[in-house]
Amino acid sequence: MQLCGTYGVFSAVAAGYTRDQFTALAVIGDTDGPIAPCGTCRQVIIELGGSELTIRLGNLNGAIRDTTAREQLPDAFYL
Ligand SMILES: [Zn+2]
Repeated sequence: MQLCGTYGVFSAVAAGYTRDQFTALAVIGDTDGPIAPCGTCRQVIIELGGSELTIRLGNLNGAIRDTTAREQLPDAFYL
């Protein structure tokens, strides 16, 4: 089963969370190395979570790499 990081962010926003309440987002996959969010998720994460939001990339074997929304999408689109 695959569930994009976008759904996690949308669920939190629908529950009433605002940008300043997000502290981190984790993306986990059954992959060889830490999995990164897809392009659509990167844009949504940076718009709703802010460019400095910590994103923890991981896999089911315990590999972890921390990054930020800005590092994942350096040329993000802003309105
Ligand atoms: Zn995605």
